[in-house]
Amino acid sequence: MCFILYTLHSCNHWVAQPSPGNGPVLRICQEAEQMRLGRPCPDTEHKVANRSQGMCDGCLWKKVTK
Ligand SMILES: [Zn+2]
Ligand SMILES: [Zn+2]
Repeated sequence: MCFILYTLHSCNHWVAQPSPGNGPVLRICQEAEQMRLGRPCPDTEHKVANRSQGMCDGCLWKKVTK
């Protein structure tokens, strides 16, 4: 299943990771590449790629502007 990678921040927000080179954020899985000729699967999996000890940009920004 094709997937989108997220960083899970300490504020419990999931922030989608941009892919290198500003490509599409949706990652095409091997199955889609081979069986569907590069078309993404109808369902998208949302995966946590890594966890951050810090807050997301949105929460940081709110904190700064308080
Ligand atoms: Zn897929
Ligand atoms: Zn947040």
